[in-house]
Amino acid sequence: MFIDPDALRAIIARARRDRPKETCGLLVGKADHILEAVETANAADDPTRHYEIRPEDYFAQIKRCRTVSERSGERYAVLGAYHSHPNGAPDPSPTDLAQAFEDFVHVIAGPAAGGAGMEVRAYRLVDGNFQPVPLVPVAEEGSP
Ligand SMILES: [Zn+2]
Repeated sequence: MFIDPDALRAIIARARRDRPKETCGLLVGKADHILEAVETANAADDPTRHYEIRPEDYFAQIKRCRTVSERSGERYAVLGAYHSHPNGAPDPSPTDLAQAFEDFVHVIAGPAAGGAGMEVRAYRLVDGNFQPVPLVPVAEEGSP
């Protein structure tokens, strides 16, 4: 999976800003390239422990992708979702697994081991379990 460096920086900045709450949002792009990290509200009852993206935020991005695709002739889509772990490593929790969508890439930001900086990891659901996916920062011309 490729990710625009600005999108990656935005995820890290929001993860830091929203501590001690979990930050969250949707990942928009083309095929295997995340071009945008779109911020959404965290609608969880306890946003310090969980995250929840509202269906209407998801539908709004699907609609927006359709408009951008029609205009550009390229196929933009919601490729996944991101959230942060304010206190723990960016490993998926049992709740993350229970909430995960098939076909989505799940990006998690959390404090790097050793306490210096933030680490961002990506996972995909394969046969009911998370599999790590390499996340490679690459810029692309013509992002929406
Ligand atoms: Zn999580």
